[in-house]
Amino acid sequence: MRDVALLVYGAVVVARLGLSWLNLRHLTRRGHEVPALLRAEVDAEKLEKISRYTGERARFGLVHSLVSAVVTGLFLFGGGLGAYDAWVQGLTHSFVGSGVLFVLGLLVAGALLEIPFQLYGDFRIEQRHGFNRQSFGLWWSDWLKSTALSLVLTSLLAAGALALVQAAPGTWWLWVTALVAGVSLLMTFLSPYVIEPLFHKMEPLEVAGLSDGIRAMTEKAGVHVGRVLKVDASRRSSHSNAYFTGLGRVKRVVLFDTLLSQMSHAQILAVLAHELGHWKKHHVLVRMLVMLALLVAGAYLAFSLVPSAALPELVGLSAASFPARIVILLVAASTLLFPLTPLFSAWSRRDEREADRFAVELHGHARDLADALAKLGTENLSNLHPHPLYAKFYYSHPPLVERIGTLRALA
Ligand SMILES: [Zn+2]
Repeated sequence: MRDVALLVYGAVVVARLGLSWLNLRHLTRRGHEVPALLRAEVDAEKLEKISRYTGERARFGLVHSLVSAVVTGLFLFGGGLGAYDAWVQGLTHSFVGSGVLFVLGLLVAGALLEIPFQLYGDFRIEQRHGFNRQSFGLWWSDWLKSTALSLVLTSLLAAGALALVQAAPGTWWLWVTALVAGVSLLMTFLSPYVIEPLFHKMEPLEVAGLSDGIRAMTEKAGVHVGRVLKVDASRRSSHSNAYFTGLGRVKRVVLFDTLLSQMSHAQILAVLAHELGHWKKHHVLVRMLVMLALLVAGAYLAFSLVPSAALPELVGLSAASFPARIVILLVAASTLLFPLTPLFSAWSRRDEREADRFAVELHGHARDLADALAKLGTENLSNLHPHPLYAKFYYSHPPLVERIGTLRALA
């Protein structure tokens, strides 16, 4: 049993590393060619910068994935989980208490192991390529705040879920689903007021001559956007981006101040039009409903499989506590679901294409969005040459060159 599980786990690790390696080799071979569509934006010097940055990030990503996979594999299959489980169970006899301790210990260990990788990523790679703008002090204060926050929230959620498991042994999957869904929904509404202000300063976007354009466009689209905000991302990094969040009355579009300084008003409106498309085409709602369906299915599956003796045997154990069984189940699920990654990515890319088409109709000029994307891609030194298979597997957006090509054909 354990050998089969180890083989499947290893196969998925090899497949993931193989895809990353393929992507890196593609970059090495094709990285010197300027895509015809980007001749105006990318010169030899820019291309050299892009190749160096994407290459470095890809090599670092490969090492990071390898180390994470080996550490997780050793912990699971090498006896670490069994020893850790026995140690935690020896600390207290309370079902909820030992479960919360179990989860907290893993979270802390994971957060500590990630520190060197995050530091190297931000203060070596990002620094070397001119993106990093944060001091060590800010980095550590962010780390402390986000780690403390995740420990507190996860403990509360785990305690609530475990109390439900104990109180309703025959139907807990239903109650735990309701708890997780309820908390997620609550966080959607609370996070802009409670969590985001801990890290960022958000303020209403007020650029002379732009606010009227934004109001006119949201009205034309018939989308009630609560707020269009500017975030002070430039305190940390010169990377630029825009995103949308929320439901109902708390719908928000957030633009990085770095993006605002790079783009013309027409281009900013085009980017906003794309984000509006995600609501207008119900991408947000459909995504949440699918997540809910997956949550219900996952909770029911966990409920049915957790008592099985085969679960601990998967990692060579004869016994395991409830939280240890959940951990085994989570790793098994993420391993077995890996082949479905391209389906989710394809779904996301379809939504992105639809939002692009919507943006062109609403904004009226395909050219502005194409130029905005070209600027976003080149300023952020995005990979212009992803391997097609890698892009099919992982890309949530169509590759930059393909996306710009579609838009320029429309223009
Ligand atoms: Zn989008």
